[in-house]
Amino acid sequence: MRTVRALQRLSRDLVCPCPPLLFVRSWSVAQSQSCSSSSAEKPMPGNSMLRHLTSKIKATGPISVAEYMREVLTNPVMGYYVQNDMLGPDGDFITSPEISQIFGELLGIWCLSEWMGAGKPSRFQLVEFGPGRGSLANDILRVFSQLRGALGGAAVSVHLVEVSPKLSQIQAQCLTGDQSQVSASEDEPVYRQGTTTTGLPISWYRNLDDVPRGFSIYLAHEFFDALPIHKFQGTEKGWREVMVDIDPDEPGKLRLVIVPAPTLASTQLIQADEKRRHVEVCPEGGVIVQRLANRIAKDGGAALIADYGHDGTKTDTFRGFKSHELHDVLASPGSADLTADVDYSYLRRMAGATVACMGPISQKDFLKNMGIDTRLQVLLRNCADPSTRAQLIQGCDMLTNPLKMGERFQFFTMLNHSRLTRPEQSKRGKKMAPVPKMGPAPLPVAGFSELGLS
Ligand code: SAH
Repeated sequence: MRTVRALQRLSRDLVCPCPPLLFVRSWSVAQSQSCSSSSAEKPMPGNSMLRHLTSKIKATGPISVAEYMREVLTNPVMGYYVQNDMLGPDGDFITSPEISQIFGELLGIWCLSEWMGAGKPSRFQLVEFGPGRGSLANDILRVFSQLRGALGGAAVSVHLVEVSPKLSQIQAQCLTGDQSQVSASEDEPVYRQGTTTTGLPISWYRNLDDVPRGFSIYLAHEFFDALPIHKFQGTEKGWREVMVDIDPDEPGKLRLVIVPAPTLASTQLIQADEKRRHVEVCPEGGVIVQRLANRIAKDGGAALIADYGHDGTKTDTFRGFKSHELHDVLASPGSADLTADVDYSYLRRMAGATVACMGPISQKDFLKNMGIDTRLQVLLRNCADPSTRAQLIQGCDMLTNPLKMGERFQFFTMLNHSRLTRPEQSKRGKKMAPVPKMGPAPLPVAGFSELGLS
């Protein structure tokens, strides 16, 4: 009970700071609901990307959907993520951290509570995958700064895994002002370094493997859905891979085909007891989750993965987004976002028994458990401006309403096993066998259980 109170106090310290800090993103629900905005001024790499893909297919035959996605999204020269700032009302899609500051603040509380639950280690790495514009990290770091006392002098550092030079620049501006430098050589594992506006060391990497080892809280928000998937179709002859080919009727167009013979992927990636007839598998996501699980098991810490997803039930979820509208995944490749729902049952399987997994739980339940209603009330109490009040209310509704983002987005966590067990305290130095004495009950995992914060 004592520990639950500590967590409640932490959350109240955040929801009742004096004065509460209010940030309004340049976003309105009207824009987001109509899901449409102009992308007229955006570069249109579609043609050169299409040429690149068609010459690849001409040379080697149809390519997997995974290869198609990898090229379109992260090709180092013309990839969609490499070239664009795609987030926000003027981009192609909007994400929860961009909608409301409350989202990041509650995730900041989550990070702190996991650090507390792990016994407040003296060093604490915050690692974020695919930080977009840096808004989530910014809101989290503001919480760390406001609740500095709770962190008790722990050495906190920030580590961002980001493939896009363009977005890393935007993140650096958001998080450090101009207090960051790019590395002298492009090949350096740390390609940018600096100090956050709250005074913490911050570094940028392209791969998880380059992030230093140590107790870490890993966050991935709308990151796994951007990783390449393979697509498979069940046929009378068994599982066959769906691939991308040139349309023979219109050579300037691409089409999806089911290849006649099994591929390495179709023989390796389908579970023997698979019941669905169409399956999407993201092996890159599986590898990242395995690496995270190993790190968490050895170094301590936790990972929080939030994305739209399912628990091994959905089939065809591969889709494109352009200017907030659905977009044909094969049309003008490179000009639109490509995405597929995260299969949490696959991630859980890849994590194995190395870590304890919880979730997926809906965004609505997660945020309600984290005290979103209380935080909203505090911000409203201190805000007189009607349009800001309306934005705050609409933002929270967008995040939690089951018909908007509340049910589609799911939260999943991987924890070090020790996090959920009551430590055994045995008396040492006695001749007789030590009598195990149970330590205090572990802190509940915030967000995944009700803490009674309101
Ligand atoms: N998390 C942010 C942005 C989501 S968009 C938000 O919720 O607002 C996806 C992010 O992942 C972008 O920052 C993109 O550049 C990054 N990304 C995509 N593929 C990646 C990869 N393979 N490695 C590292 N970052 C990647």
